[in-house]
Amino acid sequence: MGRIRVLPDQVANKIAAGEVVERPASVVKELLENSLDAGATSFRIEIENGGRRLIRITDDGCGMLRDDAMLAFERHATSKLRDVKDLLSISTLGFRGEALPSIASVSRLLLETRSAEEATGACVEIAGGKMLRSEEVALAAGTSITIRDLFFNVPARKKFLRSEQTELAHIASLVTHYSLAHPGKTFFLTSGANELLHVTPVATMRERVYQVFGSGALDDLVDLGVCEKQLALPPPSVPPWEAIAEFRREPEEPSTRIFRLSGFVSRPQVQKGNRNSIFVFINGRLIRDRLLMHAISSAYHNLIPPASFPFALLFLECDYEEVDVNVHPSKTEVRFRHQSFIHDFVRDTIRGRLIESRPAPAFPVTPAAHASHPAQLGPQLPYSEFSEMIENQPPADPSSQHMGVTAEPAAVAPGAEPIDSAAPEFHLRPPHAPEPRFDFGSGVIPLAVDPVPAATRLRVPDTHGAFPVDGPLEITSLSVLSDLRPIGQIHDSFIIAAGRDGLWIIDQHVAHERILFEKVLKERAAGTVEVQRLLMPLILQLTPEQQIEYARIADELESMGFETEPFGNRTIAVKAAPAAIGPSDLERVLFEVLEIAEGELRGLSLDDVRRGIAASIACRAAIKINMRLDQSKMEWLLRSLSATDCPMSCPHGRPIALQYSMREILKAFHRI
Ligand code: ADP
Ligand code: MG
Repeated sequence: MGRIRVLPDQVANKIAAGEVVERPASVVKELLENSLDAGATSFRIEIENGGRRLIRITDDGCGMLRDDAMLAFERHATSKLRDVKDLLSISTLGFRGEALPSIASVSRLLLETRSAEEATGACVEIAGGKMLRSEEVALAAGTSITIRDLFFNVPARKKFLRSEQTELAHIASLVTHYSLAHPGKTFFLTSGANELLHVTPVATMRERVYQVFGSGALDDLVDLGVCEKQLALPPPSVPPWEAIAEFRREPEEPSTRIFRLSGFVSRPQVQKGNRNSIFVFINGRLIRDRLLMHAISSAYHNLIPPASFPFALLFLECDYEEVDVNVHPSKTEVRFRHQSFIHDFVRDTIRGRLIESRPAPAFPVTPAAHASHPAQLGPQLPYSEFSEMIENQPPADPSSQHMGVTAEPAAVAPGAEPIDSAAPEFHLRPPHAPEPRFDFGSGVIPLAVDPVPAATRLRVPDTHGAFPVDGPLEITSLSVLSDLRPIGQIHDSFIIAAGRDGLWIIDQHVAHERILFEKVLKERAAGTVEVQRLLMPLILQLTPEQQIEYARIADELESMGFETEPFGNRTIAVKAAPAAIGPSDLERVLFEVLEIAEGELRGLSLDDVRRGIAASIACRAAIKINMRLDQSKMEWLLRSLSATDCPMSCPHGRPIALQYSMREILKAFHRI
């Protein structure tokens, strides 16, 4: 008898569960995606004990036919695919038919569902993969799936679960981000007796961001709007013997593809210590993708410090054929057909919008809140700052149902009962008050005549008042820099300037650095770098590593104005250099450049190296701090800064100009 056996379904399901169901949040993800696929518009998600004791999702979607209710638990049973062709363009979130049998094999599951087409519904109960009950019952249309005791029969998996807070944080993050992707739908998430999220349908994504995070977040974000780009596809290659027939045939495949990007990204002053605040949806699917992460980081290159990350909420839409979602069991990874096109589209769109809006950092700048926070150890699911808030709370008091999540002391309306401080509140940036900063002018003020008791109101994020109809006040753009009137310097280092919209402080060194950085890159692109010949060649001795890097970037150095040539063993002679660098700085700049090229596991592209060289030159050549500047010099500096593409931050990511807005000034003097 052979030694190979086909595994029984129960075992196979458990193996699949190992891939699909990593933690409670993965169950929520699969169930939520099923509800979305079922066309639901309202989702109620109930959690107990971080999802270990209970996860229940109730939707108002199409429901299942009675005959399908049992079938849904068979392996690879799905209503979403028919044949192998369908795999090439998947429009639904699910398609593997693995989630329900996998989840049912590691929990006690109750399915209650009714399709609108039938008068009665079905109720199916399964525990650890064994069918316990299947009945016809009277139910409202839609589906409710209850999962109890997750991993009760997989002790090994259970042991790996993290604290109740952590698991709940992952769930909350997941649901919140799906709610952002579907502003027209209702999401209601509870943990025990606590409402964690309750958002009702709104017309735009901007309003949903406002519902979830409050106005403070909108002030920190740049709206990408909707950006489109077309990709022309090469004509299909046709063998010569078919060419004539082909010529007569109508083309079947479209010759172009359209890619659409929308969403929000943070202004450069917002800097995160890890990638946990980056969320990318492709055709409505939340994914983690290295290529896009890289595109986002490159968009912020030379705008924020190298080891920090922005907040981003991106929605990319493209033809289903352009993206293969069938590459990972939990469907969180994808593969693109035109990788570099997508990469550059995302990078250039984000960068373009940042340059266009030139947002001015407010004064004082928010400290990089989580810069020191260790990165998550490869989380498979999205995670965000507000999830961290849940996670970092002390464990819930067993005597109460509350999770003990507070972002800030809730404001108490006069005469109202003090609000339970354990009520959770979510904000993108905890220290922000939820009151819209921009309620003035629009005439919309969150009304006190709210029939909902204050305590309930303040607990859920859907309490940021009505979305101001006129939209928020535009953040001051740095384009005003050229109209500022310099008043003087402090410590011969920072320029103080007055403008119509407030007071400004400008760091003279980094301002000049930005000006020179862009100038050097423009001259390099135009081939007009000003070069200065050295009287005596400068001889530099290199280490073996530097020698290798030198060989790689010698041509680039040449185009940037460094004329160098090998000069014996591991030695180079520098004969000319960019005019901007003084002879005393030359050696430092060159070694700095070689170090940049060597850095980051040699993964730097020549483009990055070029920017690195430009940054080094700019830093050396820029006006130093502790240097007195006369009026005309200061005016020149502000004018030139305003003419740059990115006056927001220096090439190393530090802010250049801070604004103390008129509104802040009036507020500080109690005049408003
Ligand atoms: P997949 O989503 O990959 O098809 P699942 O195991 O998640 O596989 O679900 C199996 C099938 O059960 C789905 O194809 C769908 O027909 C049905 N189903 C699951 N959840 C729901 C729901 N909430 N409403 C309606 N039908 C559902
Ligand atoms: Mg599914």
